[in-house]
Amino acid sequence: MIGNLPRVAFAARNSLKSMRTGVQPGNKSRLVIETALRPSYTLSYLENQLVVSIANTPANQSVRAKLADSALVKSVSQVQHGDRLQIIANLRQSIGQIPKNQIMILEPNGDNDYRLVLDFSVGNPITIAADTTVAKPAAEKHVIVIDAGHGGKDPGCIGKGGTKEKTIVLAVAKKLKKQLDAAGFKTYLTRSTDEYLKLGERAAIAERRKADLFLSLHANANPSRAVKGFSIYTLSEKASDEEARKLAEAENAADKIGVKGFGGFEKEVRAALSSLQQHAVAEMSEEYATSCSKSFRSASITAQPGPGVRHAPFAVLRSTVPGALLELGHLSNAAEEKLLSSDAHQNKLVNAIVKSVKNYNFDV
Ligand SMILES: [Zn+2]
Repeated sequence: MIGNLPRVAFAARNSLKSMRTGVQPGNKSRLVIETALRPSYTLSYLENQLVVSIANTPANQSVRAKLADSALVKSVSQVQHGDRLQIIANLRQSIGQIPKNQIMILEPNGDNDYRLVLDFSVGNPITIAADTTVAKPAAEKHVIVIDAGHGGKDPGCIGKGGTKEKTIVLAVAKKLKKQLDAAGFKTYLTRSTDEYLKLGERAAIAERRKADLFLSLHANANPSRAVKGFSIYTLSEKASDEEARKLAEAENAADKIGVKGFGGFEKEVRAALSSLQQHAVAEMSEEYATSCSKSFRSASITAQPGPGVRHAPFAVLRSTVPGALLELGHLSNAAEEKLLSSDAHQNKLVNAIVKSVKNYNFDV
């Protein structure tokens, strides 16, 4: 699988094709850098400057940036730094670190080659020494919202032994919160008691908390009691397979139990997200989900046969926050029902999730 190749596999000589700036809705400035190959890059934030450093690329002074009038970018210059091309955007004001979901790499299409697209606005100005180290606000913790599925009048699926999905996932969510907090993350639970929450409300909590990652925890049921194992899902309008489609239908049905609530939320979120950002959120979710699936497998947690990461239109994942839905195992399988109820197995699951979060690349 291409996505698993180390980044050095792309270390071929790149070349700069074009640069331009623009102004986006929400008073955002956009910088677009077009290159012949997929750019491998790092960002640095200096006072009134944003520096994009692209590996294996020569400076090309014949490429001049096309500048939009009211953008935050006053001018753009190029400097060769070893084998790296440094593109320096001189800004009217300092900017804070650009959130990962405001950075995209677009694949070539039509007349365009690869485009690195950065959207930014004036945030908290940061003052640092004038070198090219990346300035990370040291005290800033990554925010993770943990969603225990179902709750209250919605038990989720129920095992033969009477184990309820809502109870298992809440227990795991609380353990996970404790471990992630201890590992230096800032975490929030969508619910910490046995209460019913609409799916849109869960997604809205992730938005309100400005989460970097959203994890929705579930346990599965299958008409065949022999089926077992975990599976990891990300949001897509089209399901990856029939099983995933049915699962999303079942999980989305949780809302039919409830009263009306956040109907407008999803529309608002979709409207606020450009298709480029949706693309970026989907890519990041996929990256996390792949890491999560790997982490489960390396912890020897039984995987449901099939692809490592599946896709389906889960309502709870519709937001601007990257995330995944984790089906931790099958309550319909007697052995797994026992496992899921056990402290030891819950801890094993939690450790695997913590590892996947630590491995996730929050910063570009
Ligand atoms: Zn569920």
